[in-house]
Amino acid sequence: MLLFTPGPTPVPQNVRNAMSDETMHHRTPEFEAIFEKTRKHLFNLFKSDEVLMLASSGTGAMEAAVINLCHNTLLNVNSGKFGERFGKIAIAHGLKNVEIKNEWDTPVSVEAVVEAVRNNSSIDAIAVQISESAGGLRHPVEAIAKAVKEINPNIMIIADGITAVGVEKIDITNIDCLIAGSQKALMLPPGLAILGLSNASIEKIGKGKGYYFNLATEIKSQRKNTTAWTAATTLTIGLLEILETIEKKGGLDKLYAQTATRAEAVISSLQAIGLHVYPKTPALSMTTIDDENASQIRKILKTDFDVNVAGGQDHLEGKIFRINQMGLIAPYEIAWVVNSIEHALSKLGRRAYDGTANKVFNEIYFKADKK
Ligand SMILES: *Cc1c(COP(=O)(O)O)cnc(C)c1O
Repeated sequence: MLLFTPGPTPVPQNVRNAMSDETMHHRTPEFEAIFEKTRKHLFNLFKSDEVLMLASSGTGAMEAAVINLCHNTLLNVNSGKFGERFGKIAIAHGLKNVEIKNEWDTPVSVEAVVEAVRNNSSIDAIAVQISESAGGLRHPVEAIAKAVKEINPNIMIIADGITAVGVEKIDITNIDCLIAGSQKALMLPPGLAILGLSNASIEKIGKGKGYYFNLATEIKSQRKNTTAWTAATTLTIGLLEILETIEKKGGLDKLYAQTATRAEAVISSLQAIGLHVYPKTPALSMTTIDDENASQIRKILKTDFDVNVAGGQDHLEGKIFRINQMGLIAPYEIAWVVNSIEHALSKLGRRAYDGTANKVFNEIYFKADKK
């Protein structure tokens, strides 16, 4: 079965092998050496002033960011389930919360954020997804961050990059906290979250907040290549392996270029067979199609073609399907996915199969390859 859900993503064989060794003790020079190497790779990936690895799923890093970087009012952008989550975290911790809500296909506008910030001087942090996975949407985070910092540089910008870090180059000039998770673009099992922090955010963290997710405690430990609590040793070993693999396969820029080309080729191939892209500003992490036959298409893909793509949640259940674009993906696998979707449409009696999807995919993907 080809796993083409936008998280979890498949774990490459060499990474699974690397994680299959005996469990290592985390307070040893051997593990500290692995931790140090992994940190170096992460600095290259995040380009931030500090990086922290947390033994938790992505939501843990979202919570850590909110409690440590927001002391008063959090402005969160809700164009989907993950954006909504930031607001829920703030409320759960007794923080004040302002939310900008849009339909799941609609990105927040820079103007709306600027207006909200001007209208409420108690906002001291903004949380927004770079790629909102609920509908496969790209928010204009860099432009938002720039505009907000021009109004008040002390407002912390928390960017959820769980389906963006490792997908595309992110300009972190005005971002204080960038979040990644292991099971999306980093091609690992779930359970590890990573934060990239600015020096300004470290200043605001001060002594930190919370206990398990107190980032001051983690900064102190991780600068010494250890963790405050038991490290996710096996996942850290896997992370080092995947980051080394990316380097061996040509580095991050090549990965970003391949991802962008693949996403473009998939969108064009599916549009060519009459399908409609759901988000107004598609993220590169996934291709989201809205379709009245979404459930049937997913079922045919799974039973007849061994392809597993994700559906939608809440009000989009049965209305969309989402195809992963994150990670090192073999072109023959994604070519099979678009071909299978064309077959599914033919099985549903919507369109006679003529190989258009693969033709368009190949034209775009392989022409770009020759550049
Ligand atoms: C998956 C995801 C999360 C949540 O991560 P968990 O690992 O499930 O806690 C948060 N934000 C985005 C954009 C995601 O895609």
